[in-house]
Amino acid sequence: MQYKDFKDGIRLSCLGMGNMRLPVHDDENKTIDYELGQKIIDACYEAGINYYDTAYVYHGGKSEVFLGEALKKYPRDSFYVADKFNYGANPDFKAQFAEQLQRLQMDRIDFYLMHAIMDSNIDNYLNCGCIDYFDQMKAEGKIKYFGFSFHGSVEALKKMVAIRKWDFVQIQFNYYDWYCNIMEDLYKILEDAGIPIMVMEPVHGGMLAKLDDDIKAILGADTDTEQAEWAMRWVLSHPQIQVVLSGMGTMAMAEGNIKTFTEYKALSPEEEAIVEKAARTLHAKIAVPCTVCRYCTPNCPMGLDIPEILRFYNEFKVNGPWRLNGMKGWASEKLPSACIGCGTCTQHCPQSFDIPRYMAELAEQLEKMGIK
Ligand code: SF4
Ligand code: SF4
Repeated sequence: MQYKDFKDGIRLSCLGMGNMRLPVHDDENKTIDYELGQKIIDACYEAGINYYDTAYVYHGGKSEVFLGEALKKYPRDSFYVADKFNYGANPDFKAQFAEQLQRLQMDRIDFYLMHAIMDSNIDNYLNCGCIDYFDQMKAEGKIKYFGFSFHGSVEALKKMVAIRKWDFVQIQFNYYDWYCNIMEDLYKILEDAGIPIMVMEPVHGGMLAKLDDDIKAILGADTDTEQAEWAMRWVLSHPQIQVVLSGMGTMAMAEGNIKTFTEYKALSPEEEAIVEKAARTLHAKIAVPCTVCRYCTPNCPMGLDIPEILRFYNEFKVNGPWRLNGMKGWASEKLPSACIGCGTCTQHCPQSFDIPRYMAELAEQLEKMGIK
């Protein structure tokens, strides 16, 4: 297993076990398969993984309970647990923190995060008083290191970083988001600030291990494991990365990841070029590659910020509908539902995107989510 120094003499395994996609039974409630889950945790522990990540909301609150049980047999000082406060699930941060310690059956949480900060909820976290409280918990030894996980814009991350010196930050980080999204900018902000980065979604929720045949051919990787290995090696090639989390739901995933992180080889420049080609080919297939030239916007009779809406469209297609929560709070006349389908934008777009179709698809999805 590869390790990296963190601080205070702590060495963290470069691979961390994420507990968001644990194995589940095929029942109505998708209850966690404790037997298989325990085997995966045991395999991780025996391979030297010492970082275990969970959150208040994972598996409907049952992930923390499972993790506490699964780690109980190991000495408490031989591993680190990361857990997260979720404002949306319960703004009462004191009650949530107390409940988390109880669920985990622990008297401290080593790495504690404010969960999934984005532009639409950043002020809730900053204004609710939780930061002072978690600082107090840190002073009392109930939290060792304090940070946040992040899904927002470059501006929002700059705002967070300017507030204080965070112990660490967790971001989504993978080769797709680097070449086709804002990930490079986010990484550089954290690198410049000297903040260690915990990585989530290194394989983009599994997308980079289930590639189409043409992209597999670019990478020369047939199996899911080989594709995941490319993604993990790419992530690890970035020096500011501290821990790469993987939600290991099967033994095969655990074994594949452990092998990758034990026999790690940095990517060569030639290999990086191959990964970039794979990313760009994938992007062209699944998203709208808007260049933000803004030729379309002056001609929209409804004054819609078309490239920004297309950015959300891509987030929706690639990451799922929940990313549209970032549009909560938008004025109704700025939402995709305000589009009248005139098609003027398409006429002015150098790439002739069928923008009215994307607007209609987004409007339908936002309506389902009650964002209107
Ligand atoms: S189709 Fe919609 S987005 Fe495009 S110019 Fe017309 S109103 Fe604006
Ligand atoms: S004209 Fe086309 S490429 Fe340019 S910002 Fe508008 S949608 Fe994007």
